[in-house]
Amino acid sequence: MTYTLEGATGTWEIVVGLEVHAQVISQSKLFSGASTLFGGEPNTQVSLIDAGFPGMLPVINHECVAQAIRTGLGLKAHINLESRFDRKNYFYADLPQGYQISQFTHPIVGSGVVEIELSDGSTRQIGVTRLHLEQDAGKLLHDQDPKRSFVDLNRAGVALMEIVSEPDIRSPEEAGAYLRKMRQILRYLGTCDGNMDEGSMRADVNVSVRKAGEPFRTRCEIKNVNSIRFVTQAIEIEAMRQIEVWESGGSVDQETRLFDPARGETRSLRSKEDAHDYRYFPDPDLLPLVVEQAWVDELKAHLPELPDDKRARFQTEYGITAYDSGVLVAEQAMADFYESVAKGRDGKMTAAWMTGDFFAALNRTGKAIEESPVGADKLGGMLDLITDGTINGKIAKEVLETMFETGEAPLEIVERKGLRQVTDTGAIEAAADEIIAANQDKVEQYLGGKDKLFGFFVGQVMKATQGKANPAIVNDILKKKIHG
Ligand code: ADP
Ligand code: MG
Repeated sequence: MTYTLEGATGTWEIVVGLEVHAQVISQSKLFSGASTLFGGEPNTQVSLIDAGFPGMLPVINHECVAQAIRTGLGLKAHINLESRFDRKNYFYADLPQGYQISQFTHPIVGSGVVEIELSDGSTRQIGVTRLHLEQDAGKLLHDQDPKRSFVDLNRAGVALMEIVSEPDIRSPEEAGAYLRKMRQILRYLGTCDGNMDEGSMRADVNVSVRKAGEPFRTRCEIKNVNSIRFVTQAIEIEAMRQIEVWESGGSVDQETRLFDPARGETRSLRSKEDAHDYRYFPDPDLLPLVVEQAWVDELKAHLPELPDDKRARFQTEYGITAYDSGVLVAEQAMADFYESVAKGRDGKMTAAWMTGDFFAALNRTGKAIEESPVGADKLGGMLDLITDGTINGKIAKEVLETMFETGEAPLEIVERKGLRQVTDTGAIEAAADEIIAANQDKVEQYLGGKDKLFGFFVGQVMKATQGKANPAIVNDILKKKIHG
C-alpha cells in the first residue's frame, strides 16, 4: 500500500533516506585506550589523543574494526578489504583536534540491505549505501553555570558507525520499521546497544516530496533526531511543510533543519550556501586500513543467528505463526527464553502462553525478561501440568499469577491451594445432576433450540467445582445427561 499525502494540487509521495549514527560497543575508543563507559565524571575518560594534544598518534582499535565488519555482515553488505581514514575539518569547542577522523571516499562497508516488515504484513527491502567508522565529538554543557559553558570530552573519540540508507523509504511507518530493524540487528550482533535515550543511536533524517513517477526533488536533512517516534513525526511535519512550499509556487532549498517536538515544527539550522566545506583529506597519521578476507570469514562464521533467520526457523521448527515468531524474536533474550521453554514441549502452546499471560504479567512487574521472577523452567513446569492434566487452562492462569507473586514452583502452588483438576467423573456427575434438576426450564429451552444455553450449564458445573473440573469431561457428561 503506497503512503501518500494530499495537497491542493494533488497527491504527493514522500522520499526518505536515513543516516544512523550507532555508537560501537567496545571498551576503549576508536584511536585511544580511554574508556567508553557511559555516565562517568566529566573529563575522566580522556586520553591525550582525545584531547587533541599536538604530536599524538592515533592507533586504530582492532575491536572497533571487528564490530564494523560484523555489522556490515549483519546488513548483508560488501566488506571493503581496504578502506581509508580522512580528516573532516571543522572548528567547534567540543572538537579539540579541529577535525574529526572519518571515512569519506573509502568506507569499510559498502552496499547492503535491510528487510522491513509493515503493519499490513508486507515486507520491503531498504538499501544500505555504506557504513563507515568515525570519531564522536565531546559534549558542551550549557546548563551548569549562568555565564559559562563547559566541555566534557568523555565521548570525544568514541567510535561511531555511520550507516547511510538509500532514499528507498516511502513513509513515516517505513522509517520507523527501518530504525527498529536496524536497532534489533545491532543488538543481536552486540555491536551497538541501540539505546536512543542515552544517544548511542541517533538518526539524521533526509526528506523530500514528489509527485508519483517524478524524479527526486531537493531534500532537507533533519539533524540528530533521538527517538523513533520523533523521526516519524518529523517526517510527516517536514513533508507537509515542503508540499506547502512547492504548492505556493516556491521551491525547497537544500538545508539542514532541526525538529522541535514541543512546537511540532522543523526549523532551518543552516542553508546549503553556508554548509561547511570540510576540506576532507586522507589522515596522514593513519595508513590505509587493510583487513584480510580470512578474518572477515572468521567473523562471519561466529555471527549469531540474526532476527530474520531466527524468525523463519521458529515458524518451521515450532509451527508458530509469522506474527508470534516476530514478537518472540524481538529481543535475543526473549527468543532464548522461548526456545528453552519450547524445547521438548508444544511450540504453539508455549508461544500462546508467552505472548499472552506471561508477557502481560511481566509487563505488570515492569521487568525485562532477563529479570523475570518466573524463569523458563517454572513456566515450562506449569505448561507440563496442563499437558499431563494436573490443572486446566483456566486454573493455570491463576497458578502463573501466583508464581509471579511468590516465586513458588507451579506444583507447590497447585498442592498448597488445592487446585488439582477434578477428573473424578462421579463428582462432576453429581454437580451436573444438581444443576440440571434446579434448571429444568433452561433444559427445555435448550432442547427447544437455544443452543447457546449449553455454555450456561458448563459454567455452572465449573463454578460448582471451583473451576477445577476438566472441561472436556464436563462437556461429555452434560451432553449425555441432557440429551438422555
Ligand atoms: P550528504 O553527503 O550530503 O549527506 P548523501 O548523498 O550521502 O549526501 O545522502 C545523504 C542521505 O540523503 C542518504 O541517506 C540518502 O538516501 C538521502 N537522500 C539523497 N537524496 C534524497 C532525496 N532526494 N530525498 C530524500 N533523501 C535523499
Ligand atoms: Mg550526510
